[in-house]
Amino acid sequence: MNTPHGAGTASTHRVLILGAGYAGMAAAIQLAARTKRRADVQVTLVNAQERFTERLRLHMTATGQQLGEMDIPALLAGTGARFVRGWVTAVDVHTKTVRIDDSRVLHYDTLVYGLGSVADTALVPGVDDHAYTLNGAQDAALLADRLARLASGTVVVAGSGLTGVESAAEIAERYPKVNVVLAGRQEPGASMTVKAQAYLRAALDRLGVQVRSGTAVTKVLPDSVELAGGESIAADVVLWTGGTRVSPVAAAAGLTVDGRGRVVTDAALRSVSHLDVYAVGDAAAIRQGYGVMHGTCQSGMPTGVHAAVSIVRALNGRQPKPFRFGYYHTPVSLGRHDAVVQFTHPDDSPRRGFLTGRTATWYKETVSASPWPTYRRMKKMPSSGAFWPHGGRFTRLRGAR
Ligand SMILES: Cc1cc2nc3c(=O)[nH]c(=O)nc-3n(C[C@H](O)[C@H](O)[C@H](O)COP(=O)(O)OP(=O)(O)OC[C@H]3O[C@@H](n4cnc5c(N)ncnc54)[C@H](O)[C@@H]3O)c2cc1C
Repeated sequence: MNTPHGAGTASTHRVLILGAGYAGMAAAIQLAARTKRRADVQVTLVNAQERFTERLRLHMTATGQQLGEMDIPALLAGTGARFVRGWVTAVDVHTKTVRIDDSRVLHYDTLVYGLGSVADTALVPGVDDHAYTLNGAQDAALLADRLARLASGTVVVAGSGLTGVESAAEIAERYPKVNVVLAGRQEPGASMTVKAQAYLRAALDRLGVQVRSGTAVTKVLPDSVELAGGESIAADVVLWTGGTRVSPVAAAAGLTVDGRGRVVTDAALRSVSHLDVYAVGDAAAIRQGYGVMHGTCQSGMPTGVHAAVSIVRALNGRQPKPFRFGYYHTPVSLGRHDAVVQFTHPDDSPRRGFLTGRTATWYKETVSASPWPTYRRMKKMPSSGAFWPHGGRFTRLRGAR
């Protein structure tokens, strides 16, 4: 089928949002709620699945824990926004169309690009063939299935960033008979204060996680991984969490992208090359006074809100405002009964304060559980000051522009 879908009328402004992750979902709900009574605006959200993926919790899915059902079309119900399930294969910035599943075509007047990121499985040979990932709920479920059948043996978690740390801790806690090795270049919790990092390391030791930091996994084989220097570790299961990559769709469309393929935005989150395209979340390269933001949920949701607010301003003939964001915390789960929360400066460098133990576990759970109820509240009260209309709240940075 090749018929253009959503052609609209001459007076209808079509806003198309690609990706219903933390950022795209925030943009969609905000736009839908803010334009609910306007007949001249049509909001459409496109996503690969109808069910919202709680990416923050995929290490829980991977260890067989059931998460709540979060139905995207049900959330959008009553707002007038449409949901289209499908895989975005191309954007044509000249005809202002998006191709879905290579067969359907959707038109836009304004595009919000929020296709997120996935683990970079192309960094090292063998990852695509032999390693599991946490790229989506299905990938995590595949790993859950494999782990459930593994009575003993070794799981190597490749990549010692925070996703690797959370995954290794979760697997070790759920499967105490399994030998869990966390291997990667950086020391686990490297971005935290010395004390918070020491706490995290002690928790990994308590859970029996063997840490092999200061070394890179250079190859993944069917039954082992190779480390830089030639050492080999036998592995029944390998989980790859090293590095992230973004969809090639933006670069292929001719949008200006950075070296990692992320859409380079102006201060208002519009593509610097195409002002009718906004970019949000992990898929965007957004410059702040401290540098280009790195992708997180805590920053992704405010980018979605800001893009929506800016689009509504533009529809009303007003100029969008600059986006400002400062990080405020790094919450890391260490299984279900422990966690560490490092408070941060706006540029994500650690403050002195951090939480551990039960308080941190409660804090982390509260943060991870909050997006879906937040979207529900946004649907009713999109203009509430609680939803970062101008970006994050803690944005003042000494010496920043
Ligand atoms: C295990 C794990 C734990 C994490 N923990 C934290 C944490 O504690 N705190 C934190 O801030 N961050 C955390 N992160 C990072 C965080 O999940 C990401 O930064 C966040 O999900 C980015 O949101 P997003 O909306 O940009 O993209 P995503 O959440 O990646 O969503 C993108 C959406 O687009 C869809 N999509 C992608 N390509 C296409 C396509 N071509 N066609 C159709 N649909 C498509 C995807 O299916 C998905 O629904 C964690 C990540 C992982 C994997």
